[in-house]
Amino acid sequence: MGGKDGMDRRSFMRKGALAVALSAAPIVSSPKGAIAGSAGKFATLIDLTKCDGCAELGIPKCVEACRRENASRFPEPRKPIRDLWPQKTHDDWSEKRDVTDKLTPYNWITVQKVQVDGQTLHIPRRCMHCDNPPCANLCPFGALRKYSDGAVVIDHASCLGGAKCKSVCPWQIPQRQSGVGIYLKLHPIPAGGGVMYKCDLCHSRLEKGLLPACIEACKGRKGEEAPMILAQRQKIAELAGEAKRRGFYTYGEKENGGTATVYLSRIPFEKINSALSSADQKPHMARVEPKLMEVNRWSKGFIFAPLGAALGALGLVLARRANGKEEK
Ligand code: SF4
Ligand code: SF4
Ligand code: SF4
Repeated sequence: MGGKDGMDRRSFMRKGALAVALSAAPIVSSPKGAIAGSAGKFATLIDLTKCDGCAELGIPKCVEACRRENASRFPEPRKPIRDLWPQKTHDDWSEKRDVTDKLTPYNWITVQKVQVDGQTLHIPRRCMHCDNPPCANLCPFGALRKYSDGAVVIDHASCLGGAKCKSVCPWQIPQRQSGVGIYLKLHPIPAGGGVMYKCDLCHSRLEKGLLPACIEACKGRKGEEAPMILAQRQKIAELAGEAKRRGFYTYGEKENGGTATVYLSRIPFEKINSALSSADQKPHMARVEPKLMEVNRWSKGFIFAPLGAALGALGLVLARRANGKEEK
């Protein structure tokens, strides 16, 4: 009894300490929302020498936990789904919700499996949470924000699904579901066609002092050997530096100007990327030069922000009119 109470108390204190550590993150949410160009408070370290893809399970723990955590936010499209305007297609994953081997609007993390140098690698993939995210900088409607905890988050209520975020993301991470969102009230306008979905680093859990669901699930299965951990950005940088001294390769520290996700591997990422490419697996792990950063700032400041503001205002007027008509 005493032992159990002791365990409960220790466990509670550990959770409490974690809550204090995580909830200390101030949130930046200005209208443009960005702290673009800044490293956030937290980062993720993913050690590929430790991840076994949860081989004994049907679905990896991290994937299952993410789907459970975010199920209430998954899209419920209005059917029949109209084609995107002016194209003659639309994106519909609603009948393929069980897909876990790729990123979809219903699956925000996937674990790639690839053979490299006779070894099987399992690679958890989700948004990298870039320091200077082009997706947030170039969204014409300001629907994405970078928060000071490190998370890059899509506001589903203001996303029109134009997929600019996906086209400017070096890894093509955000995924679109048509037939859902504010777009339904504005259709047709020359942008949009649903809502974009991706990992948000469990931003709302971080606000409550909780670990991201995928990381908590991985920790629960692997304990101290957890391949995926979250820590203060500085701590992750120190761990990555120490790993490099021990012969590890890293991916994500410098990619796209820096990200809040760092992978460790004993195999060079050039080889891993070749294997992914040969197996036709996405997202890639190619080196991503940070040259887009300056372009992003310029584009955001001089072209897209005013355009976004104008289109956003127009959208809101149209939406209110549409709502008014529906209410009458
Ligand atoms: S990261 Fe952890 S939970 Fe996810 S597949 Fe690897 S071992 Fe399993
Ligand atoms: S990985 Fe892609 S979607 Fe994620 S923050 Fe970077 S640019 Fe945006
Ligand atoms: S951080 Fe949260 S949203 Fe992102 S993959 Fe993990 S569980 Fe899913």
